[in-house]
Amino acid sequence: MNDYVFDSNWARAQDGADPLRKFRGEFLIPPHGDVEQTYLCGNSLGLQPRATRQALLDELDDWARLGVEGHVHGRHPWLPYHREVRDALAEIVGAEPSEVVAMNSLTVNLHLMMVSFYRPTRERHAILIERNAFPSDRHAVASQIAFHGYDPDEALIELDGEESGGTVSMAAIERALHQHGSRIALVLWPGVQYLTGQAFDLAAITKLAHAQRCTIGFDLAHAAGNIITNLHDSGCDFAAWCSYKYLNSGPGAVAGCFVHERHARENLPRFAGWWGHREDTRFQMRPGFDPTPGADGWQLSNPPIFALAPLRVSLEIFQRAGMQRLHQKSKKLTGYLDWLIRTQLNDVLEILTPAEPERRGAQLSVRVRHGREAGRSLFEYLVAHGVLGDWREPDVMRLSPAPLYNRFQDCFALAEAVQAWRNASA
Ligand SMILES: *Cc1c(COP(=O)(O)O)cnc(C)c1O
Repeated sequence: MNDYVFDSNWARAQDGADPLRKFRGEFLIPPHGDVEQTYLCGNSLGLQPRATRQALLDELDDWARLGVEGHVHGRHPWLPYHREVRDALAEIVGAEPSEVVAMNSLTVNLHLMMVSFYRPTRERHAILIERNAFPSDRHAVASQIAFHGYDPDEALIELDGEESGGTVSMAAIERALHQHGSRIALVLWPGVQYLTGQAFDLAAITKLAHAQRCTIGFDLAHAAGNIITNLHDSGCDFAAWCSYKYLNSGPGAVAGCFVHERHARENLPRFAGWWGHREDTRFQMRPGFDPTPGADGWQLSNPPIFALAPLRVSLEIFQRAGMQRLHQKSKKLTGYLDWLIRTQLNDVLEILTPAEPERRGAQLSVRVRHGREAGRSLFEYLVAHGVLGDWREPDVMRLSPAPLYNRFQDCFALAEAVQAWRNASA
């Protein structure tokens, strides 16, 4: 399927025929001088929906107008506010509504989930992660291991990316689970790896982990709102993600959490707070903790309304666009960027991300062939010319066309800018 063309008119025509083209207009695209930036950084911080500002002002107004009564009489009553985002959140990750909850931040949720799902014993206390795990995830698992009195040097197993580009094959995951499975308590794996952009088959990994009687959780930071995750069907035990990347809910946005239905009524050990207590008896203010069944039972505090309002706005956009349609567009868009790099920029850029559409999402990680200095020079040239990707030390540039607001023209603009840099530095 290769009918892509290196031509700005062709790219513009694709955008004109894109059934999701109107969604771009719902976002504030950062300016570059008098024109719009070519923003390819939605993997790091998604753009602001136009409707977010008013949604925040509405909450401020309700607070001003109603005081404490906003909890029940607000336009979006604060008491059940987390339920306003639940269905949409469930749709995005492929879960039942009772399996998801919006709360806290990602790393906090990872810890809360590990309190319940990392139950180490002397024989079985290791955690399996990937070698280049996001530092926060690594800190979280290492500190959980140490918290339980074990030694991270011994109990943290980091699987190397053995494929070219640093990606990990299913065969390698299978081997690691065969070799170490009996001492692994927990597998914590990404849905999409942040550095390489590799997407994983959650159901297949879950099956391998469960075959060794390991608990498995996924970090969907780079997967939520990006790929189709089918969390419920994957059978994994838990998942967590942040909402400021593809989910466009603003810096430090309220994160998401998934607990599989089969754990909904188990009385799992957890760090509890009053908001996890059953709603019908919560305000009797009694001492005993009676958890709400499902993911809601892991809530600690009453939710931050000013942080949830942007999430509500953003998820409403996702509901209208639809994850399936977004993903269809995303495959074409990232396919175009991939094709441009391979056919027009092959002497400059090497792609680290897998080429198979089912093994990646909206992100391509690239390395400049002439080394780190050339890479930095290209990255800075692109920024100066209004093309924003991001840079990860030591030498990886990440480029992410997000299907809600990026266009074929943006991929074309990136390719043109790289060519201009090549010509200028020749
Ligand atoms: C973005 C990201 C984080 C960030 O964690 P916060 O708690 O939201 O600051 C953690 N892990 C992964 C894999 C990420 O991609």
